[in-house]
Amino acid sequence: MSAGTLGVGGDVGRDVDEVVRLLRGARSVVLACHVGPDGDALGSMLALGLALRSLGADVVASWGGEPFEVPATYAFLPGLDLLVPPSEVPAAPEVLVALDTGSVDRLGSLADRVAASGCCVVVDHHASNTSFGDLNLVDDTAAATAVLVADLVERLGVPLTHDLAVDLYTGLVTDTGSFKYLATTPSVHELAARLLATGIRHDLITRAIYDDAPFGYVQLLGRACAGASLEQEAVGGLGLVSCVVPADELKLSGLGLADVEGVIDVLRVSQEAEIAVVLKGDPVEGGFKVSARSKGAVDVGAVCTALGGGGHRFAAGFTSWDDGPSTLARLRAALDAAPHLPV
Ligand code: 5GP
Ligand code: MN
Repeated sequence: MSAGTLGVGGDVGRDVDEVVRLLRGARSVVLACHVGPDGDALGSMLALGLALRSLGADVVASWGGEPFEVPATYAFLPGLDLLVPPSEVPAAPEVLVALDTGSVDRLGSLADRVAASGCCVVVDHHASNTSFGDLNLVDDTAAATAVLVADLVERLGVPLTHDLAVDLYTGLVTDTGSFKYLATTPSVHELAARLLATGIRHDLITRAIYDDAPFGYVQLLGRACAGASLEQEAVGGLGLVSCVVPADELKLSGLGLADVEGVIDVLRVSQEAEIAVVLKGDPVEGGFKVSARSKGAVDVGAVCTALGGGGHRFAAGFTSWDDGPSTLARLRAALDAAPHLPV
């Protein structure tokens, strides 16, 4: 492993030199991130796309979800012109790079491009990552996929431009919970400093992500929290707080799933509950997208993986096709059976 200035660890070291060689020589590259992309998925993907384009490669970026719409929150990200809908992604990419994607199924309709590609590179930080690539830059100690992309960009010899910095900062700020989570190491702050030094407006970036939503969202948040339930005996007495955001309410408010990502961050404030859960009705596909958060005593990543989803130890999710009460009952039973971690 040639030492990068960020000193990333995990499995990254084994394959990184080969990935750099491959990407430097590639004529065309397809980038893909997980369905329902968040700030880290989009920011990491677009940053790497801009970097590879500056090296002369033909680059397209996508995710396997329909309808193919960039969440309004992330409309400011540089490099959106790299995006194509999944139907326009080449059937057999020369090189495919999957970013922030823990398993093949999270690529949705682009999952078949993994086997069809000449080489698949996985760049990710999920503990549940299955290392499904031919080459895998996977480090579950990394605070964000953006950290791994920043290191890769540096190894590729691409200068850190303002546009790259906006994308990378977006990934960094979203996956560290605005630099609050445990994975926020000194090197994360060092990276943030390098990004700020390019002159990016971090105040405008964080306002767009956290402090700018339609009034209908504020009202919906109020209703969701007012209808939340607190079960103090659940999770072996550690407490569970949960709420439902019904699909028809989203539709009525003209909101999408990406607009209600922040509900869980309000709900998990409840000090009586170790675990917070939000069931978000999917207005397009039906079913529920379930978000789960732990304060450190339960590995919700393992719980959600067992329920067909995945994520990180303290932030994870899964998709359910059951109704709301059955979904919550299934999750409650899995949480009750989960071991308590030493805290
Ligand atoms: P969120 O609750 O913010 O949607 O997701 C929290 C974490 O869990 C993210 O890292 C996300 O990628 C992961 N996650 C959420 N839903 C799913 C899912 O259905 N499958 C998998 N594998 N991971 C998920
Ligand atoms: Mn991420």
